[in-house]
Amino acid sequence: MRIVALTFHDVVPDEQAAAKPGDGFYRITVGEFERLLSQLRKRGYQSVSSRAFREWQQGKRTLPERSVVLTFDDGYTSHFELVAPLLKRYQFSGTFFIPVGSVGQGGHVTWAQLGKMVFLGMEIGTHGMSHRPLTELSREELEAEVADSKRLLEERLGVPIRAIAAPGGFWNRAAAEAVARSGYEAAWISEIGTNGPDTQPMALRRIVVRQPVAIDRVVSMVEGWQPAFWWAANQQLLIRILKRVLGVYWYEQLKRKLVPNA
Ligand SMILES: [Zn+2]
Repeated sequence: MRIVALTFHDVVPDEQAAAKPGDGFYRITVGEFERLLSQLRKRGYQSVSSRAFREWQQGKRTLPERSVVLTFDDGYTSHFELVAPLLKRYQFSGTFFIPVGSVGQGGHVTWAQLGKMVFLGMEIGTHGMSHRPLTELSREELEAEVADSKRLLEERLGVPIRAIAAPGGFWNRAAAEAVARSGYEAAWISEIGTNGPDTQPMALRRIVVRQPVAIDRVVSMVEGWQPAFWWAANQQLLIRILKRVLGVYWYEQLKRKLVPNA
């Protein structure tokens, strides 16, 4: 069995899709998000947390044949206000990766909201402290980003934090080693693909849902339809080449130029 993990960022009311400032490249509308949930539900999918996925990898539990991991990055207020209620309505749950330094800042979830999300059965993971790419940090900064974010979430929420998502998808061996040393059980990156029992837990694959959103294609990928992966992987490859050629800073500049409102 292979399992697909999806990644979402900000989810906005349909009428705000064009108007809201911020990163439009990764933003989807509530309408698009709900259509996807409804399609997955109709096809009999059940959501599994990062924790459940890892327990399955370790042979400690079974998973439904139609399982999907739903992950949410960056700790937007919309994750509490719009996403969590919609997940509940469709009997799904999600894994939310929080850049801990942003908690309570404008547009981001508060500690009280995170507490309620835990109460609703959502899994919380970290997304570092400052959302800086882990690959750009000194050894000390790297250790602090992964260890402090985990410890702070655990102290404030009173639940074990088992998973991290790589800020910006930037990942290397030093990051994987630091994350393993800090006691994480899973690291989710943005490499296109599916996850099986033997997939390296410190480099689990996720498919980022972003503009232009094509719900049918996302559903095809969850169902394991190979051409959809091929198509997405080519886009991803182009992005990776641009990041490598331009460097993180200039890649972000280019993205802002190409995508309106980004
Ligand atoms: Zn992020």
